Amino acid sequence: MIRIAIASGKGGTGKTLIATNIFNTLIFNHRKATLVDCDAEAPNAAVFFSNKKTDTFDVHQMVPVIDTNKCTYCGKCHDYCVYNAIFLLPPMKVIKVIEDLCHGCGACSYACEYGAITEKTVSLGQVNNYLTNSGYKITEARMNIGVMSPVPVIKAAINHADKDEIIIMDSPPGTSCPFIQTASKADYIVLVTEPTPFGLSDLKQSVYTLQNMDKPFGVIINRAGLGNRDVYKWLEEENIDLIMELPFNVNIAKIYSEGKLITDELPDYKTEFFDLTNKINDVIKNK
Ligand code: SF4
Ligand code: SF4
Repeated sequence: MIRIAIASGKGGTGKTLIATNIFNTLIFNHRKATLVDCDAEAPNAAVFFSNKKTDTFDVHQMVPVIDTNKCTYCGKCHDYCVYNAIFLLPPMKVIKVIEDLCHGCGACSYACEYGAITEKTVSLGQVNNYLTNSGYKITEARMNIGVMSPVPVIKAAINHADKDEIIIMDSPPGTSCPFIQTASKADYIVLVTEPTPFGLSDLKQSVYTLQNMDKPFGVIINRAGLGNRDVYKWLEEENIDLIMELPFNVNIAKIYSEGKLITDELPDYKTEFFDLTNKINDVIKNK
């Protein structure tokens, strides 16, 4: 099994376009593949395929509940909480759990010697499974509105996805915890960028993060022809693989905005995307 994450330093660069078309190309070529949509704040990869939802399950975490009748305001739970999720004012006899900061680690329950802490279940989001008309699986992480971190939902979706020959993961944008969670599970990361100053700035952050993680990666420039040549110059200077370019093209934008796939509508791209997956496969094998 190999896992390929499609990521970008910022939203709107076209990573879902790349992820869905790689997946579609694998379907054409009868490879055993699963698509995991890890962009839990706004998952939309499934809409590009005719599919039906097959099952869904809730992702939850345990959050402490403090019984103020039993609490002595000793502060031990507060000291154990590395996430500063317990607000405590002993002179005022005030203690509160800040649920948005709580990571459900259970340290406070362990710390309390007075039996003042019990736990309740809080829903963080869902993992949804879909089956495409051609029998391929899509697993989607979808966090609830208002939840602070999508990480537990992303982790559950990746763990739950079928262990197929190739797993394509549409990563959340940015370089913070949700991206790290996805990239850390990948054998190879495709970074999608655009040839603009913003694109270059965000690409640099993604590259430095992946270099620190010691992960193999390559870059796709989307909307090539737009902006300037600074991204190309930087990739050359840093000896980073440019693995594909997609032109700045009204046809591609129109197809994508209609929820269609360029590998269906513009057949030349079938070959181009299949060559891309073979190239990535070779890098992973020779690692
Ligand atoms: S469960 Fe962990 S993160 Fe949550 S309040 Fe207790 S110690 Fe803090
Ligand atoms: S450890 Fe228990 S008794 Fe002490 S402040 Fe926390 S909840 Fe209250």
